[in-house]
Amino acid sequence: MLYLDNSATTKPYPDVLDTYRQVAEKFFGNPSSLHHLGVQAERLLTKAREQVADLLGVSGQEIIFTSGATEGNNLAIKGAAFAQRHKGKHLITTVIEHPSVSEAFEQLEKEFGFEVTWIPVNENGIVSPTDIQKAVRNDTILVSVMHVNNEIGAIQPIEEIGEILKNYPNIVYHVDHVQGVGKVPLNIKKAGIDLCTISGHKFHALNGTGVLYIRKNTPILTLLSGGGQEASIRSGTENLAGNVSLAKGLRLAFNDYEEKIDRLINTKNYLINELEKIDGIIINTPKESSAPHIINFSVPGIKAEVLVHMLEEENIYVSTTSACSSRKKGESKVLKSMGKKSSITESAIRISLSIGQTIDDVKPLIDVLPSSIQKLKNIMGL
Ligand code: PMP
Repeated sequence: MLYLDNSATTKPYPDVLDTYRQVAEKFFGNPSSLHHLGVQAERLLTKAREQVADLLGVSGQEIIFTSGATEGNNLAIKGAAFAQRHKGKHLITTVIEHPSVSEAFEQLEKEFGFEVTWIPVNENGIVSPTDIQKAVRNDTILVSVMHVNNEIGAIQPIEEIGEILKNYPNIVYHVDHVQGVGKVPLNIKKAGIDLCTISGHKFHALNGTGVLYIRKNTPILTLLSGGGQEASIRSGTENLAGNVSLAKGLRLAFNDYEEKIDRLINTKNYLINELEKIDGIIINTPKESSAPHIINFSVPGIKAEVLVHMLEEENIYVSTTSACSSRKKGESKVLKSMGKKSSITESAIRISLSIGQTIDDVKPLIDVLPSSIQKLKNIMGL
C-alpha cells in the first residue's frame, strides 16, 4: 500500500500508541480528583503540557488541550470575537481557509452581526500582507490566516502579517498551523501570534487530540462551560492519554527536524519533476513558498474522484481537494480563488507525503500514473 493522503490524516506512530495504552491503563484517574490517582493524573497532564509548550517555544500556561483543530479553530475565532465584541465587529480572514475557519466566520457574520473581510490570494495561493494592512479598520478585532494551505501547500507570510499587526493592540491574531507542524518552521512568539491551532492526527499522534496556544492575556470567551478544566477555557474531563500521546507525537515530529525536511523536499522535487513529464498533467502547487509535503496537480478532462478510485485499485491512496471538502460535491474553492479554470479545479488531485517517505517509496505512483490516465482517457474518448 502506498498512502499519500497524510494531510487528511497520518498513521499513528507505534510509540504514540504505546504511550496512549500505557497512560490509559495506569493513569486512569480523573486529573480533577483529590485522591492519589487524580494527583498522579494531574501531574502527568502538567508534564505533557510543559513538553508541548517547550517544543513550541511558549509557556505551559498558554497551552490548552482540545479535541482537534476544528474545535481549536472554532474556540479561537468565536471565542476571540465574542470576548471583544464591545471593541468592534470587524473581522479579517482569507478566502482559502479550512472550513473549520471559514464556516466559523460565516456563522459570526450571519448569526451574530459581525462583518468579515475576505482577503483574496494571488495566482500562487498566497495572501498579501499589504492587503491585510489595507483591510484593517478602527473596529477590527480579529485577523485569522492559515500557515500552510491544506489543498495546495502554499505557505502564507505569517511573520510579515504579524509584524503589521503588532501596531494594532486591539487585534487578536489567529493562525491555523495544522498543516505546518513538523514540516514548515513557525516561531509563534516571534510572529506575534495570539492564538495558534494544532491537530494531533496530522503528525502521527491520534485523532481527537489537539492544542490551542493562547498567548497570555489574550481575550477569549469559553465555548464549553462546565467543570473549569483547561483554565476554564475548555471544560470537560481531560483526555489524558490522548494529550500525553500528542506530546509524544510532537516530540517525534521535531526529532532530527532538518534532516527529515531535507528528505521530504527531495521526495517532493522528484515527484514534481516526474509528474511534469507525464502528458496532460498540470502542477498547481506553487514552485516557491510551498510546504515540502503537499503536491497538487490536475489532469484536465478527468474528474478527480475517478482518478482517485483508479489509483485505489493499484493500492495507492491520494485525495481530491481535501478530506473535509471532498465529500461536498464540486470544484476546489482554493484553486478557484487562485484564478484556475474549471477544467483544473474539477480535476485536482492532492498528494500529501508523510515525513519519512523517500523517493523509492513514492516511485510506484509514477510507475502507474501514465497508464491509469491513458486508460481513463480511452474510456472517455479523449
Ligand atoms: N485546519 C486545517 C488546515 C486542516 O487541514 C484540518 C484537517 N483537515 C483542520 C483544520 C481540522 O482539523 P481536525 O481534523 O483536527 O478537526
